[in-house]
Amino acid sequence: MVNTADGEVVSAGVNLVLSSGLSAAHAEVVALSLAQLRVGTWDLGAQDAADRELVVNWRPCAQCYGATMWSGVRRLVRFFTVVLAAIAVTMFLKAAGVLA
Ligand SMILES: [Zn+2]
Repeated sequence: MVNTADGEVVSAGVNLVLSSGLSAAHAEVVALSLAQLRVGTWDLGAQDAADRELVVNWRPCAQCYGATMWSGVRRLVRFFTVVLAAIAVTMFLKAAGVLA
């Protein structure tokens, strides 16, 4: 999840289905959920909210399209390059202090 005005990474998600045992824990749902926790509201597209977009590296499944729609996020951007998505996740994890 990115703030479009300044490019700030609000959240990043990875697929946690196997590690969590939760069938719905797709990367998009994880990214949306972390963004909602960070921002403090479920409505990521609220009228007074920053302009945000969810960037994904492939086609979201039906569940993730629905989760994106219900999150209120204003745009879904499909970004096909896995390497670039990995760079975005790495940047977020470094900014969060998870990676050195
Ligand atoms: Zn999905």
